[in-house]
Amino acid sequence: MKNIDNPFYTATSRRQALKNIGIIGSAAALSPLNLACLKEEKKLGIALVGLGNYATLMLAPALQKTQFCELKGIVTGTPEKAIKWQKEYNISPAHTYNYETFDKIKNDPAIDIIYIVLPNFMHEEYTIRALEAGKHVICEKPMAMNAAGCKNMIAAAKKAGKKLQVGYRLFYEPHHLEMKRWANEPFEGRIKLMETSLGFDMARPGLWRIDKKMGGGGALMDLGPYVIQAARRAAGQNPVSVLAQGFIDDPEIYKGIYGTYTWQLKFADNALCNSTASFSSYTDRYYVSKGYDYMELKPAFAANAKMSLQSRDESKSLPCNEYQQTTQMDAFARNIFDNTAVIASGEEGMIDMQVIDAIKKSIETGAEVKIDYA
Ligand code: NDP
Repeated sequence: MKNIDNPFYTATSRRQALKNIGIIGSAAALSPLNLACLKEEKKLGIALVGLGNYATLMLAPALQKTQFCELKGIVTGTPEKAIKWQKEYNISPAHTYNYETFDKIKNDPAIDIIYIVLPNFMHEEYTIRALEAGKHVICEKPMAMNAAGCKNMIAAAKKAGKKLQVGYRLFYEPHHLEMKRWANEPFEGRIKLMETSLGFDMARPGLWRIDKKMGGGGALMDLGPYVIQAARRAAGQNPVSVLAQGFIDDPEIYKGIYGTYTWQLKFADNALCNSTASFSSYTDRYYVSKGYDYMELKPAFAANAKMSLQSRDESKSLPCNEYQQTTQMDAFARNIFDNTAVIASGEEGMIDMQVIDAIKKSIETGAEVKIDYA
């Protein structure tokens, strides 16, 4: 494992120190003692690329609370934003880039991680350029425009010897983890039915998300990954086929894409998940049934809402960080420090894209499509 720009830090010495105090690989991995050790390390510098809504409203505030990484740089095409962010977050002009100067980030030792928060059609290109610049990368969802793009990104990470995370905040969210634990717990019988859906009434003319070339397929691309991966996590397996439908409620708005996508995922044991992704209507549902029991998460996928897990007998809320993104980014920093596998990996992002590719094909052909994981 690599020394991370810190003359006082070496992986082996740190691992040895942790081993000596007996906490590596134990349930105490997140104990205060361990956190104290990690605190002594340099925080990893993150540069956000694309200062839009998500970067402004979620990632930058979340980065004020991270333990193992910090906001050190920005990449923006809007000079006014550069000035505002430099002031607000004490970012040096030396760590400020635009899309023309982006590749110079290679020579910036303050930046360890580049976080791509650009419109979907730019994810693959900027992730690969960031990896080629020798940086670790977090890329927002959907990982790319299709599974082939994801494959290129994974190959680029391997070639560069750098880590790649998809911005899947819910992979680290306590309620989602509890739903997974509950669903995967053996019981008499098997899971036969799930429902996962997410939608907002948000389609407006001019929005890049509804431009086929920039967004790649409206709500399916934007919200589909959440509902697909929720089904995969609860089922504990990947779906084998899908039958999908697309609906347009406003032909003036939706050109070459659908407003509402619905689909049914089928698993090898015949479990079924019925799903919706919509830019025309609000819906937010994560429901799993196990025999006579069920678990439902409400709200299911929203960022930083107060969630509760409801079963037949109880409703419970679990302790969690103010920002889901704080947990996600700190987990990635720990993967880099410890040279451990990334949970929300590029491979996970690619599986969701393989399912999305199959959904598109099913709508196009009107037939059930076997999902290609090659
Ligand atoms: P915005 O449209 O608000 O921001 C995108 C930013 O990208 C712009 O502000 C701009 O920043 C930059 N940009 C560069 N080129 C273009 C271009 N040609 N057209 C438009 N913008 C451009 O989008 P969001 O912040 O909502 O989404 C960004 C990404 O984050 C998406 O991939 C989305 O799926 C993902 N996302 C993830 C969420 C999650 O919960 N994980 C939630 C919301 C979004 P600048 O002016 O600085 O150059």
